[in-house]
Amino acid sequence: MSRTESPSLQPTASLAGLEDGFARRFSYLRLSLTERCNFRCTYCLPNGFEKRRGLTEELSSAEMVRAVTAFARLGLWKVRLTGGEPTVHSDFIAITQAVAEVPGIRRVAMTTNGYRLAREAQAWRAAGIDAINVSIDTLEPERFARITGHDRLDQIVTGIDRALTLGFAAVKVNSVLMGDLDDAEWARIRAFVSGRPVAWRFIELMRTNDNVALHSRDARPAEMVRTRLVREGWVARPREPGAGPSTDYAHPDHAGTIGLIAPYSEGFCDSCNRLRLSSRGKLHLCLFGDGGIDLRPLLQDDAQGDELVATICKAMPMKRQGHRLHEGDSGATPHLASIGG
Ligand code: SAM
Ligand code: SF4
Repeated sequence: MSRTESPSLQPTASLAGLEDGFARRFSYLRLSLTERCNFRCTYCLPNGFEKRRGLTEELSSAEMVRAVTAFARLGLWKVRLTGGEPTVHSDFIAITQAVAEVPGIRRVAMTTNGYRLAREAQAWRAAGIDAINVSIDTLEPERFARITGHDRLDQIVTGIDRALTLGFAAVKVNSVLMGDLDDAEWARIRAFVSGRPVAWRFIELMRTNDNVALHSRDARPAEMVRTRLVREGWVARPREPGAGPSTDYAHPDHAGTIGLIAPYSEGFCDSCNRLRLSSRGKLHLCLFGDGGIDLRPLLQDDAQGDELVATICKAMPMKRQGHRLHEGDSGATPHLASIGG
């Protein structure tokens, strides 16, 4: 069967769990709270957040909680709050608390640009956040400012150090791989993880509809980092069942790990365990698919719960076996902020 061929279209999801036509089970929802963001990352929102024309309003907090409740009824137990920048949502704390209280949800994680981390990590922890991913594409302050539009690297690193004192189950760094990794940057990253129990993960730059030129110029394969890791004595950790897409490498001289997330690598989609709900209420079965399945009409009243669950179940067999990024097909995704990266 080709990478993208559909299997039989019999619904396979049931109240016992979410499963697609390729026997992948889904335990994890990425919930985009908002498409808005205060940063201007060159590969994502280079001109800053601009309202896209003709779109519906973003979901209300009550609609989001109804959606999470339906997924939890189907056995999904982990939610990541993302965006855009989730922390610019004025109800971020209230949404976190409500999601953490949904029966069946055992872990609430978030992905953030770290802008508010130093100041608010404690409040987020108290609200129910268990794990944090922070985005840092470079540890060179000027390059950081050029990529994000904000000269705030020190503040974000301070936030990470603060988070490390607060008992989160995990503090990770997402770092998009752009251009060649020079020796000075590599030395800074090694120093960063040598004393901190942080998982630094390089992510291959993914092509979206808005970053085609940047992607063709700056994308580099994760293999480039793997070669370096192996040469310097880092050892791949065995992947735990149900783990995310990262392969993490450890070294006896370092408290933290360095990992690779390689969406362009063969077999990357085989272990996919996540679904996405955009801030407009669309269920996305893949980061790079079509326009998504509109769940909003079924998020208006608690009494619609059974119909919502049935609609999600019916959607599962439509999930394709893999994305088509290799073919230069980014689906309908203008940038990852639009869908909850
Ligand atoms: N604003 C938050 C942040 O930056 O962490 C959360 C949303 S952001 C879309 C989530 C993650 O996607 C970030 O780590 C970001 O670096 C990553 N990302 C965005 N666009 C990407 C792309 N084209 N390829 C790979 N990673 C990307
Ligand atoms: Fe904002 Fe995150 Fe996109 Fe950067 S990657 S522009 S911080 S949504």
